[in-house]
Amino acid sequence: MKYSKATDYALHTMLFLSVVGPDKPLGVQLLADKFQVSPTYLSKILTKLVKAGMVESASGANGGYRLKRNWESVSFLDIIHAIEGTASLFDCSLDHGPECQVQQIVLEAEAKMETHLRSQTLGELAKRSSLLFKGGQMSSDEGTV
Ligand SMILES: [Zn+2]
Repeated sequence: MKYSKATDYALHTMLFLSVVGPDKPLGVQLLADKFQVSPTYLSKILTKLVKAGMVESASGANGGYRLKRNWESVSFLDIIHAIEGTASLFDCSLDHGPECQVQQIVLEAEAKMETHLRSQTLGELAKRSSLLFKGGQMSSDEGTV
């Protein structure tokens, strides 16, 4: 797995959408303001999440992005893979191949990290995060998501 700034915004966006709930589409401008990034940049991330089947865009006056029906089972690892693909964190630069002890240890660590990230589902996280939002409403406080 890889972890970039785009992944960071994707995780924050998905967590935020899961706290707001799937019934209320949020516009890209609102999300961009929330995370203080450009709407163009966030649109690219949202497009990847749409392609991965995690988010859908609703058109019309109250249009925007919302989670798809299966959102509760989406894990952190699913979101990371949607943005980064499934490439490995580490690849021995010395061409040692699978025998390389450095690679073995780092890949073992990566596997443990992936197990943990796979167990973190939006459904569970939203329950905890919602404590930070009054009645599930969006909070204007910075840094809550
Ligand atoms: Zn090596």
